[in-house]
Amino acid sequence: MEKKSVLYIVIPCYNEEEVLPITSGEFLEQLNSMISEGLIAENSRIMFVNDGSKDKTWELIEELSKKDEHFIGISQSRNRGHQNAVLAGLMEAKDLADITISIDCDGQDDIKVMTEMVKEYHKGNEIVYGVRSKRTTDTFFKRFTAESFYKLLNMMGVEVVFNHADYRLVSSRVLQEFADFHEVNLFLRGMFPLVGFDHTSVFYERHERVAGESHYPLRKMLALAFEGITSLSVKPIRMITVIGVMTWFLSIVGILWAVISWVVNIFIPGSTVPGWASTICIVLFVGGVQMISMGIIGEYIGKIYLEVKARPRYIISKRTFDRTDVVRDR
Ligand code: UDP
Ligand code: MG
Repeated sequence: MEKKSVLYIVIPCYNEEEVLPITSGEFLEQLNSMISEGLIAENSRIMFVNDGSKDKTWELIEELSKKDEHFIGISQSRNRGHQNAVLAGLMEAKDLADITISIDCDGQDDIKVMTEMVKEYHKGNEIVYGVRSKRTTDTFFKRFTAESFYKLLNMMGVEVVFNHADYRLVSSRVLQEFADFHEVNLFLRGMFPLVGFDHTSVFYERHERVAGESHYPLRKMLALAFEGITSLSVKPIRMITVIGVMTWFLSIVGILWAVISWVVNIFIPGSTVPGWASTICIVLFVGGVQMISMGIIGEYIGKIYLEVKARPRYIISKRTFDRTDVVRDR
């Protein structure tokens, strides 16, 4: 019989003592149902990543791991933030599992769609994005800000799946390649599309938090958007060049205007204040030149930035032969 895939569910937790006792049971129930359906192997695991919580979260995780072998946990040495916690869990799981699913621990994302995600994996998709179909439980403000967040990112040249956060299935094969993305400024949902491979989306409705409070107020969301844009795109730098060119064109119009005013002043003395037009022209012209120069310098800095990341330059997804065989036969 074909060997079943081992699934690791990776769950970042920060100060979630109110939430864990409720959702851990739901996760286990979901895992067991997928095991009994024969979708995943019996030695699949639920891996909690404690992100330097200051409450009883880690003690709870330890207790859970004693109660049921499907629960395991790792702990970060201190609070490093959601994205780093997810990465820590995924990197830990990449050599232990065939598939991983990352999900928040607060029960907002529909745990049951995991079944559908795993089925999509078995159809050959290496990445399955969980996408929120509706945000009816979110307030108008949260919905508006969250949706603007995705639009802004796309406008700024960051490729993200609309309304997809960090609920996604990723195969270990993709994670092996992902390990070559060495950047420290993480924006996972913008980075996985860069890895490529066959992918699809599944849709679900987002619920309210089962307990506790969100750790993502508007301030943190803006910070995350800024992080995403500046980590994945050099478009803002290019905008400086565009503004410079525009200012420069404006100065040409200004120069024409100044010359016309000067000529008019010969015929109608006193129609313009002497020196005004030339001053404006110089300011615009020099401003434009400076902006263009800054943009050009910025382009080089942008290039340096991308080089420093030392991302893989290519990723091979298919071969007509088994490479390990060829290497062994040599
Ligand atoms: N989280 C984390 N480290 C942090 C902040 C949050 O690991 O510094 C976890 C948190 O426990 C939760 C997930 O990240 O599982 C998402 O956080 P939250 O639910 O507060 O964000 P929201 O869903 O409101 O955007
Ligand atoms: Mg949440």
